[in-house]
Amino acid sequence: MLNAMNPSAKVSCTARLRHDAERMLVHDSERVLAVAPLAYVAVDADGNVAAWNPAAEHTFGYAIDEACGRELAELIVPPRYRNQHRAALARLAAGGPPRLLGRRLQLAAVHQDGHEFPIEMTLAATEETSGRLFHAFLQDVTTAQRVSRFMTVEAAVSASLVESDTSESAAAGVVHAVAAHMGWPVAELWLVDDARHVITCAARDVTPGLVLGSFAVEQLEPGVGLPGRVWQRASPVWIPDLAADTGSFRSRAAAKVGLHVAVGVPVSTAGHILGAFCVYGHRIEDPEETLSALLTGIAARVGQYLERRRAEELAVELARTKNEFLAMVTHELRNPLAVITAATDVLDEDLETLTSEEQRDQLRVITRNAQRLAVMAEDLLDLARLESGHLSIEPRDTDLCAVIRDAVRAVAAAAEDKKQIVLTQLPQRLDLYADPDRLRQVADNLLSNAVKYTPAGGTIVVTAEADSMGPGIVWTVADTGIGIPAADRPHLFRRFYRASSAVERRIPGTGLGLVITRAIVERHHGTITLAADQPIGTTFVIRLPRPEGP
Ligand code: ADP
Repeated sequence: MLNAMNPSAKVSCTARLRHDAERMLVHDSERVLAVAPLAYVAVDADGNVAAWNPAAEHTFGYAIDEACGRELAELIVPPRYRNQHRAALARLAAGGPPRLLGRRLQLAAVHQDGHEFPIEMTLAATEETSGRLFHAFLQDVTTAQRVSRFMTVEAAVSASLVESDTSESAAAGVVHAVAAHMGWPVAELWLVDDARHVITCAARDVTPGLVLGSFAVEQLEPGVGLPGRVWQRASPVWIPDLAADTGSFRSRAAAKVGLHVAVGVPVSTAGHILGAFCVYGHRIEDPEETLSALLTGIAARVGQYLERRRAEELAVELARTKNEFLAMVTHELRNPLAVITAATDVLDEDLETLTSEEQRDQLRVITRNAQRLAVMAEDLLDLARLESGHLSIEPRDTDLCAVIRDAVRAVAAAAEDKKQIVLTQLPQRLDLYADPDRLRQVADNLLSNAVKYTPAGGTIVVTAEADSMGPGIVWTVADTGIGIPAADRPHLFRRFYRASSAVERRIPGTGLGLVITRAIVERHHGTITLAADQPIGTTFVIRLPRPEGP
């Protein structure tokens, strides 16, 4: 049991004091040193411990009886500094330059339990009959250093948030500030994408030279990896040993590149989770609670910042959406309504003079335009469901080829009207665990676009096969139509967005189909992309995984 600070505690190693005068001196100061909050250690000219007060017992973990007479270097100096320490002491003992005396020195020390920590030491020397005696006053400055480090980090985070003019640069600045000042090799900020039900990496800071390999993913699902777990649990998550967290592919990948521990905290405002702030390191020395508090504080700042930016961006987006929505409704609603009204007028006024074939033509016009309105209404409803997170997917055993063949049959008449050829290259069947109605919606959207945006006489090719790049399937819809200019491509999956090639040719459309299509594909954990560098026409490429059944 170590001594608590107690005035009657023994401090000096009296057995080692050979002269009465020394004993007297030590005796007088004994009572003061026994209650001093600073660790007091005396060493003789050989570097052996001559006094060791209760605060020293507390700081270094050795009781006075364990410390007395032992070489101080062996007790508390980290092995890599021992020779340096001995050489300095020998110079001082020989009366060398006293530059080490009386100054506050920042050093590293080792506790009896083996952990290393920073100390501040002030050294004094007295001339005794037995030679020089050195008096060291030492203090564990772990907490003080941590406080100053944390304050530096917080200041750097605040500076990044204030100085950045975009959310992207703010996110990059925050992860860099935290990683650089806390010495973590990897820090990441992840943001929840509510519409797509995934969490995506907004910024990652990596120590130069560290190659992350498969650890560096950009998107995760709820519960997957540290960011996914923080999102799902809405509370801080610690992974003390990444190598032991074998259930997570990301932890395994992190362990492979030499990372050992990880901690993540939620980024939230008003109870709503916006993302996760995660750091990965070789070891984390700060106590769990203190570090969680620091990270939670930083995450809260980031949360407030993001919320403010989101509100600003939302206001701009809302104004834009309102204009686009009005423009869309004006065109897309009014045109079919005008056609329907005109056709009913014709029927009303000329019913008797029209042949029955002409009457049927007018009815067909009405039906086609009413269908266009119905599709638009359904798309708008789907968009609303998508934005409120209620676009439901009901997966079951599904043959994708059957879905595609049905959709091709449904579009055949429209393609025939434009003298287009629709070709399919499909295997007998492709079994998926998916929602067939939603996949049909995807097929309908892509096929009707291909027909709509391909001039008469063009060709449309639909293929589906097992994905040679992975375990899933790859499904393509290609046409020889008007194509999509490079400048429009990045915006294509934005609601109401229409490419200039379509607008210039006044081809009707709402800019809703692809937004919904992508949402459906992503809810099936797949991706939809545009094939790059098409010399002619457009090719959409869908990749869907083939998960096991329930
Ligand atoms: P809509 O076709 O109703 O406008 P979509 O969301 O389905 O809405 O498509 C968005 C835009 O993408 C279209 O307006 C068009 O500019 C472009 N687009 C989609 N498919 C094709 C295609 N096959 N060929 C050329 N452009 C296309």
